[in-house]
Amino acid sequence: MHVDGKISGGYAILCNCGNAFATERLGLALECPACGHTELGVDVAADYYLRSKRPSSSHDVSSPPFAAGLAKA
Ligand SMILES: [Zn+2]
Repeated sequence: MHVDGKISGGYAILCNCGNAFATERLGLALECPACGHTELGVDVAADYYLRSKRPSSSHDVSSPPFAAGLAKA
């Protein structure tokens, strides 16, 4: 499961089973009310943070290592 987005007063969580539910905070453990699957809130929060932190990942591949090696030679 992962954070689908921030909502007023908490987070919208999307479970792997397709069920979406809201939670006030990413606590110790999140439990899906539909299928009962549980996941650590810190893992879900870290995943959400890493994904939201990167505005554009296409910028990083503009200068691959092999191109730099060719330029030196
Ligand atoms: Zn579920």
